Amino acid sequence: MNRYDYRYEDYAVNLPTEVYISGFRDTQRFLEYCKQCKNYGAVWACPPFEHDTTEELKKYSNVIIIATKIIPEIKNLPLSEANHLLRPERLRIERKLRDIEKENEGKSFAFAGDCLYCPDGRCSRMEGRACVHPELVRPSLEAYGFDLEKTASELFGFPILWSRNKSIPEYLTLISGFFHNSGNLIFK
Ligand code: SF4
Repeated sequence: MNRYDYRYEDYAVNLPTEVYISGFRDTQRFLEYCKQCKNYGAVWACPPFEHDTTEELKKYSNVIIIATKIIPEIKNLPLSEANHLLRPERLRIERKLRDIEKENEGKSFAFAGDCLYCPDGRCSRMEGRACVHPELVRPSLEAYGFDLEKTASELFGFPILWSRNKSIPEYLTLISGFFHNSGNLIFK
């Protein structure tokens, strides 16, 4: 049972990979942001990556981008409580993405932030060992240089809201995606 009541709304947009890359990706800019995060180089889902991410994305002709609004029933909850809303939704969406992967060849993108799958929060990357749960972990779209504020406003027509006065805004936003070579996909 969740600590706080909330509702969620999922939205999805299909578009060609080259359109999403040309209109919404700025690898250098977002890499600089990533370098300021404690997870940079410390968590397997985060940069720097050992492979060429552009070549990897170009293997796929299409992408479905999913935006999820999480709307708490109680207004102005403290920001420190945000994980009680985000975590169950991250798990729900990541399960769905893995279901899509089973039916379509492709690559899923989940969420920035702490990895959900090692209980003590300490990634094996810090010890130079391989990821313990590669079957569960997916990188975020930000980690591959995509602009999620622009994605939300231009593909979905609503802004990502940020906290003011250390309170959770009217809604939280999660943006995920799946690159593939299938036709248009439905996220449900
Ligand atoms: S599952 Fe564990 S080893 Fe893999 S990225 Fe997450 S924290 Fe690191």
